[in-house]
Amino acid sequence: MDPDETWRLLGEACSKMDWPAVVEFANALLEWLEKGRFAPRMTNLDDGNHEVSRTAVFAACQYSLEWAEQSLADFGNRDETGFALACIHCGTRGPESYVSAIDEEWSNLNYDPQAASGRFLGKCPNCRRQQLANSRL
Ligand SMILES: [Zn+2]
Repeated sequence: MDPDETWRLLGEACSKMDWPAVVEFANALLEWLEKGRFAPRMTNLDDGNHEVSRTAVFAACQYSLEWAEQSLADFGNRDETGFALACIHCGTRGPESYVSAIDEEWSNLNYDPQAASGRFLGKCPNCRRQQLANSRL
């Protein structure tokens, strides 16, 4: 396993709220660190002191793992009512399952607090691309 690459992928999974991937990468890194192996390089914190990186990465992995597991558990509890997703920006309806939404690169999936259970709001791939393009102007 390449800890630098796994650390990068974990960050990406967290920003996409791709919970199954967060669980996978966080667990892989925790297992790696528990074996006493070197910590991944952290862009801002890394001053060559491996203990600093190790402690920070360990805490970040544990936090993101809890966050992901809680989100997946919440989703499981509400699963009976079915999955519905709409884009918070343009209103486009999303695919019929959480996994397909992640596949199609929907991001920022969250429960719609004002709707019946099982309804999510997120950012559709088009709006996401649009915002990325605007942020580069
Ligand atoms: Zn949209």
